[in-house]
Amino acid sequence: MQTPDIPAAHARVMAEIAAAAAGCGRSADEITLIAVSKTQPAARIAALIACGQRDFGENRVQEAAGKWPALRASPAPMRLHLIGPLQTNKAREAVALFDAIHSLDRPKLAAALAGECARQGRRPQLFVQVNVGREPQKAGVAPEEAPKFLRLCADEFGLGVAGLMCIPPQGTDPAPHFAALRRLAEAAGLGLLSMGMSGDFATAIAQGATHVRVGTALFGARH
Ligand SMILES: *Cc1c(COP(=O)(O)O)cnc(C)c1O
Repeated sequence: MQTPDIPAAHARVMAEIAAAAAGCGRSADEITLIAVSKTQPAARIAALIACGQRDFGENRVQEAAGKWPALRASPAPMRLHLIGPLQTNKAREAVALFDAIHSLDRPKLAAALAGECARQGRRPQLFVQVNVGREPQKAGVAPEEAPKFLRLCADEFGLGVAGLMCIPPQGTDPAPHFAALRRLAEAAGLGLLSMGMSGDFATAIAQGATHVRVGTALFGARH
């Protein structure tokens, strides 16, 4: 497979983010581009770091633990985001490695993360994942359960949750799902929204996304 022109792709995505923000009267500075580097070879990731990209997303703890320690040795500070499902028995490694976790979705995981945060003295930024399409195969709390789960995180486990995350169902208009996530976050007083991928990040920005998770549009197709 041909190596994509990473600097050109990065410039294009940054320009699209700026245009989407301008189109709804927002500042592009409010939006963090998370480059989703799962399955991508280190050379492509290094090329993106050279463009000034600092936030990266991985969906597996094991894969990230294997490739990031070396990549992270770059002089600029990196922020690593876990965007995939997290098993409780990987909470220790996840808290040690990641600066943000976007897939908090159940009490058992909240308990494990709270324990590890206390033990390690680390506080990764936390997003609660909401299953906005109520898809049985997808992770995330049901929308109607989100307020209760957020209260549990705070009251029972002392976890500060920063925002909400969603992956809308494929093949549907994502805008109503993004809007629903924004309303849930507003009702809970949460400022951050992790939503939007390569195909729909402009729509997500129009609906209030603060974090967009973009893989293919930056790196080309995954293997
Ligand atoms: C893979 C992945 C992305 C990136 O998807 P693209 O369509 O390649 O931009 C975003 N979010 C999550 C949770 C992912 O697993």
